[in-house]
Amino acid sequence: MQKTIYFIEGDGIGPEVSHAGKNVLNNAVKKAYSGKKSLEWKELLAGEKALKETGELLPEATLNALKNAELAIKGPLGTPVGKGFRSLNVTLRQTLDLYACIRPIRWFKGIESPLKRPDLVDMVIFRENTEDVYAGIEYEANSPEAKKLIDFLRSEFGAKIDASAAIGIKPMTQKGSGRLVKKAIEFALAQNKPSVTLMHKGNIMKFTEGGFRAWGYEVAKEFGDKCCTEDNKVAGKLIIKDRIADALFQDVLIKPEQYSVIATPNLNGDYISDALAAQVGGLGMAPGVNMSEKLAFYEATHGTAPAIAGKDKANPSSFILSGAMMLEHIGWNEAAQLIYNAINQALEEKTVTEDLAGQMQGAKTVGCKAFSELLQAKF
Ligand code: NAD
Repeated sequence: MQKTIYFIEGDGIGPEVSHAGKNVLNNAVKKAYSGKKSLEWKELLAGEKALKETGELLPEATLNALKNAELAIKGPLGTPVGKGFRSLNVTLRQTLDLYACIRPIRWFKGIESPLKRPDLVDMVIFRENTEDVYAGIEYEANSPEAKKLIDFLRSEFGAKIDASAAIGIKPMTQKGSGRLVKKAIEFALAQNKPSVTLMHKGNIMKFTEGGFRAWGYEVAKEFGDKCCTEDNKVAGKLIIKDRIADALFQDVLIKPEQYSVIATPNLNGDYISDALAAQVGGLGMAPGVNMSEKLAFYEATHGTAPAIAGKDKANPSSFILSGAMMLEHIGWNEAAQLIYNAINQALEEKTVTEDLAGQMQGAKTVGCKAFSELLQAKF
């Protein structure tokens, strides 16, 4: 059996980490299924490589292929600052309606963490990716647009707003929130997770963030008796609970064992994903995926790291772990497990890339290529 994976190499360290990552994934699959299963890689152009070869940063052919794809993976893409380019990542998310950003967060033994018990952290964040203040509807202070809007809100609704305010709009819908929470619950049920927590700031923003909470519980009802609430816990059923965002930030530090799947609107999700990744030892290792109804688009979550690009120093783990998530998504769990075991072993032996070696006593530093070869030797 063969699965087609579309891939974008990425800019900066992208080519190094994606090349290393593809080799690791191919060999894990080969080893796990004795050659009976394999991955077919199809490259799509985006970023600087695309600009060089086609004159465009995001060619139509790439978007068209992705619109019809089911599985894809990408290295990091640079966002040129101040040259009038939109972020390619944001364009991809919006064009392909990749509405769920999913980030698993767990600790790997050997990695330095500021927590006393990082081993208790095992969470998966489902962040809504298309709505909220990210809609980009914002008007500068004292601009004609802001003034017009303020006049309207004052005269029509009696809103108390300073005439000199900058204004931002936070649109959130039942459809947008509902489909995200639905995906989180489906995942939690499929993976036998104990709970889904709706993270929101509904005490202050009653209709947007509060809407997210209400719509989340509404969606949970569609799952019938597979779910229960915190007040009416039933053994063996998925618990749906909710927490105010600031309280949850405290809880994930103090009692991380109480949280498993977290579903949340866009801005909260942005904050908590990076905070949790830092809690277990930095962003360098964190895998992720952006999903639409059709496409699961995996990505290395770090940036292009221009300072070390082309020097064989990059850590390919984020790309590799994203690939392992992809293998689990298609049910090739044995191959994914080989990868997790190999990374655990490499970390225990303290043979790691420079970024991690800096956090470990007595570590041996290897390059990106050598690190990926070391993993493959452990399969
Ligand atoms: P960055 O993640 O590229 O770098 C931050 C720090 O982490 C640097 O010190 C870098 O050397 C180090 N680092 C990052 N990934 C590493 C890896 N795999 N191995 C070893 N060290 C690693 O963040 P930045 O400097 O803020 O951004 C650089 C560029 O990347 C920008 O153009 C930004 O827009 C882009 N970016 C892209 C994505 C993405 O495509 N998903 C995400 C973040 C940033």
